[in-house]
Amino acid sequence: MHQTVGRYGYREIRLPTFESTEVFSRGVGEETDIVSKEMYTFEDKGGRSITLRPEGTAGVVRAVLENGLLASSPLPLKSYYIQSCFRYEKAQKGRYREFHQLGIECFGTHEPAADVEVMAVAYDLLVAVGLADVVTLEINAIGCPSCRPVYHEALKQYFSEYRDKLCDTCQVRLDKNPMRILDCKNEACQDIAKNAPVMRDYLCEDCVEHFDKVQKLLQEADMAYVVNPRIVRGLDYYTNTVFEFIAEGVGTQGTVCGGGRYDGLIEQLGGQPTPAVGFGLGLERFLMLLEERGKLPPPPPGPALYAVGIGEAGRAAARRLAARLRTMGLAAETDLADRSVKAQMKAAGRLGAAFTTVLGDDEVAAGKAMLKNMDAGTEVPFELAATDALYDLLTAPVTGA
Ligand code: ATP
Ligand code: MG
Repeated sequence: MHQTVGRYGYREIRLPTFESTEVFSRGVGEETDIVSKEMYTFEDKGGRSITLRPEGTAGVVRAVLENGLLASSPLPLKSYYIQSCFRYEKAQKGRYREFHQLGIECFGTHEPAADVEVMAVAYDLLVAVGLADVVTLEINAIGCPSCRPVYHEALKQYFSEYRDKLCDTCQVRLDKNPMRILDCKNEACQDIAKNAPVMRDYLCEDCVEHFDKVQKLLQEADMAYVVNPRIVRGLDYYTNTVFEFIAEGVGTQGTVCGGGRYDGLIEQLGGQPTPAVGFGLGLERFLMLLEERGKLPPPPPGPALYAVGIGEAGRAAARRLAARLRTMGLAAETDLADRSVKAQMKAAGRLGAAFTTVLGDDEVAAGKAMLKNMDAGTEVPFELAATDALYDLLTAPVTGA
């Protein structure tokens, strides 16, 4: 993941685990599920209200503004993070109270090309592990401050007729942020939402043009997508383009990755108006998908060499040999528990060491020992001082049938 995002010019940012509660209530929005129901908020010893981060974007924006990065970096500024997030939710498959996200944020351009590049980064992450055909990219346009209010009114009017049938949460949403009703998980609300007015019919000219361009660029990049007017995203700060990568088999929730454009957030958090676009990808859901499709990478290999030591001189020689190999970039281990030769050999096997050697007084005196290939069971002699030759033996490609 670090490599894939790095190829697009993203640089890692490391953020504190908690922020002033205000960062999220102002940044994410009071009416969102995240802020109204899911935050771990408490007072510290100084009486300040602090919150374990429920998402990454608001914290990145806070840090970027506090450190003046938008003024001191060439734009667009591209930042990414891999970090834990905390939400007080009903724990179930693919939904945890502490989970991890890879997120990317691209600050400083309003161009549709940025929206599409951000989607391409997520797409590449999925392609890299063979998940591209398991997920669907769904996109939508949710308008901007000039066209969304009109749509809100239309939604209010529509949903008002069904007020009594909506869930309690949606009755509150109806007054404060009716668009949030569209992605309520309650069945009755979903049924009612089916015939609700769609944002597309209310988009202003600029938004229509932006969304058309996004689609044109997606086609140009050969990225398959579907337009889903029901995608509104759970955070208040999104404007215009929103998207999700959705898969089968990730628990009740199929969304592996969600993102969009958030042109209003930076100003809302006290910065100069700055357009931005980004996504958050849930690592546990990503791993669940890999596991279900049998695409989890194999466990990392064991050490190249386990040097078994007998007696004081032999153990010292084993340690020296391992240390030299490590400086050459190979993984090498020796016994740290004063174990017998037999127990050391067993440990080497359990670790999956590719080669072993046994060093005792005789080997140290002769300056020579045997190198055993653990898979093949074959042995070849080597000189303790000839580290380069040993390196070649340890890294030679496996030959034979
Ligand atoms: P959902 O609709 O599943 O609640 P969300 O809209 O709340 O998702 P975002 O805030 O967009 O999710 O977070 C981005 C990604 O983080 C999600 O697509 C998902 O993969 C992951 N994610 C969100 N909440 C959780 C959680 N409680 N446990 C595990 N992963 C999560
Ligand atoms: Mg959620």
